[in-house]
Amino acid sequence: PAADEALLQQVLGEPGAAQRRAIAKTITLLESTRSDHRQRADALLTHLLPHSGRSFRLGVSGVPGVGKSTFIEALGLFLIAQGHRVAVLAVDPSSSVSGGSILGDKTRMEQLSVHPQAYIRPSPSSGTLGGVAEKTREAMLVCEAAGYDIVIVETVGVGQSETAVAGMTDLYVLLQLPNAGDDLQAIKKGVMELADLVVINKADIDPAAATRAQAQITSSLRLLSQHGSPDHAHHDDKVWHPQVLQFSALKAEGLDRFWQAVSSFRELQTANGRLQARRRRQALAWMWDSLHAGLRHRFTQHPAVAAQLGRITREVEAGTLPASTAARQLLTLFSPEPPVSH
Ligand code: GDP
Repeated sequence: PAADEALLQQVLGEPGAAQRRAIAKTITLLESTRSDHRQRADALLTHLLPHSGRSFRLGVSGVPGVGKSTFIEALGLFLIAQGHRVAVLAVDPSSSVSGGSILGDKTRMEQLSVHPQAYIRPSPSSGTLGGVAEKTREAMLVCEAAGYDIVIVETVGVGQSETAVAGMTDLYVLLQLPNAGDDLQAIKKGVMELADLVVINKADIDPAAATRAQAQITSSLRLLSQHGSPDHAHHDDKVWHPQVLQFSALKAEGLDRFWQAVSSFRELQTANGRLQARRRRQALAWMWDSLHAGLRHRFTQHPAVAAQLGRITREVEAGTLPASTAARQLLTLFSPEPPVSH
């Protein structure tokens, strides 16, 4: 429709109030559950896609209270002062329950949220992590097409949302507190090996503890890199070795060091081809995630499946039908087996 053509031109057009409104409108469309909205959003995204991808995508996570919003506010203002445009998005699957725990209230990131060179969007509240993550990925493309060259995706350090954010960003930063023990938790949860950078925030409170934590986490990361992320191979100078930095978000101390590390990461990963490889991997993983979610939905909605699902489930529970047989029966109801070709 003509209205969407105008919307598209505004998103791709000059920065300003009209562009912000157009970005917000587009994201609202893609977050909508109405199928006509979804169709319009798909058409818009397809047109925006060629203009996306030119930003650097930064994931930031950490437990509530570690200082994420203080960190992002300081970093955002620092980057804007260097001429960047910064978009901040969030992945918070709990927000539909809690009413938006991150980025929800305007008191967070006070200066950044009103800055003309920043665009801040709270987490979509569509329930499942998969749904929330998908909307955030799409919102990221919209912001990129609008010319935001740094996209920060924030998430709380609980559950699978960290893996989702690491899976949609170029560089994943884990914020930690200086007291020992926190790092162990992150290791247990398998989050530490996702981190390209670990930032020990609130180093101003107890510098000695921050230094101890830095040493501890550095040695943990060395162990993890042996079986960690494909981006952190061990005995290879041409790949990135995760770094641990001290920081004070409150005093905005450590920004230069931090951004230097980000820039060396970006240069190295660009030169060795791993940045593009990571994005290709992410795009494919995203496609399969969406496909699995879509198939699951269609499967349970399928009339023949829906008619039998209750009975078959009860038989599996009762132990009268093997689970694998049940699965095969249901799959056949959903879609007959293709003919075998030799
Ligand atoms: P979030 O829940 O992770 O977003 O954490 P916030 O950014 O809201 O910070 C939680 C509290 O820690 C706030 O009172 C901040 O002022 C404080 N804080 C954040 N960063 C620092 C820091 O580097 N040093 C100190 N002393 N306090 C900090």
